[in-house]
Amino acid sequence: MGTKEERFNIKVNEPCPCGSGEIFKSCCMKKKQEYYTLGKNYEGKEMVFNQTKNMENYDEITKFFLENIYNVIEKNDTFAVSKALDHLKVIYEKVDKGLNQFSGYAPCQKGCGTCCSLYLECTPIEAELIRRYVKDNFSQEEIDNIILRLKCMNEQFEQIIKSSGENKEEIIKKYLDRKQPCIFLTKENSCGLYEVRPLVCRSFIVFSAAENCKGEGEIIRPALAPANIGRIAINQLSMAVVRFKNMHEIVNNEKTPVMKPLIQWFNNGFHDINRKI
Ligand SMILES: [Zn+2]
Repeated sequence: MGTKEERFNIKVNEPCPCGSGEIFKSCCMKKKQEYYTLGKNYEGKEMVFNQTKNMENYDEITKFFLENIYNVIEKNDTFAVSKALDHLKVIYEKVDKGLNQFSGYAPCQKGCGTCCSLYLECTPIEAELIRRYVKDNFSQEEIDNIILRLKCMNEQFEQIIKSSGENKEEIIKKYLDRKQPCIFLTKENSCGLYEVRPLVCRSFIVFSAAENCKGEGEIIRPALAPANIGRIAINQLSMAVVRFKNMHEIVNNEKTPVMKPLIQWFNNGFHDINRKI
């Protein structure tokens, strides 16, 4: 379920929602900043956000995409992996900046990790960034441990796929029933690859109560502009990487990169991502 954006009316003498401590009239109203709301969150708090800033962020990501990615695609050119990884990091940074003004309304806290048992997929270029991060930052012992767990999880996953007749909805349902945490979730329930985590994890912001994420109620996730434009940019980027150029499929008449959960990307270990489609 999503939420609806609506203009939020602030009285001129009320404290400015930006938190400056000044009244609206002499702060953001003067700077022509428009405020919107996404309605009320799980605590009944009004989710007010600066729509001017939100749109600026959207435009910034769009501009980056057009000038650095689309221009290459248009010429039928491709990216080397290293260049694409640089672009990916820039997109992540911009998306994080844009999502920052929404995250305070979510019940998410370090050490919760409930959503880390969900079925989440990412693109080849995102998996490649994680692969390199693991090789550079994890000890051989840690890598060996992960590979051992991966092997076991992938065997179970193969079973799920077989017993679901490749029906995606059923695969996801059966996967969720297992409540299997992500292979990169640490003992402290935090993300072992926080700085390189995929877009789907970055943009997983819920406005429903934390208990709902455990399957005890409906999860409310808004469609946020920075995440949406970030997804488009990353998908196009991934498909323009020379090494991954055959890794796409047609979904609803649109060319999209192959998406897989992390356990599948790394089912051959960390020497290379699994490039079989
Ligand atoms: Zn202000």
